[in-house]
Amino acid sequence: MPIDELARKRWLSIPADIRKELEENVFCGNCFVTTIVDYQVDSEDGNLVLKGKCKSCNRDVARVID
Ligand SMILES: [Zn+2]
Repeated sequence: MPIDELARKRWLSIPADIRKELEENVFCGNCFVTTIVDYQVDSEDGNLVLKGKCKSCNRDVARVID
């Protein structure tokens, strides 16, 4: 199974309300705390990483889930 598929499954195994909290608590260099949109779930060093765009300014943002 590809790593990103596994990562996606791990992400989806997190309760929806917690996932929402994580999505809405992403650091953007421009807006500080923002919501991540259009993201993909990746895996780095055993941690899940969300990679997407800032909802407000459309910058690339990422969030490590540990
Ligand atoms: Zn932003």
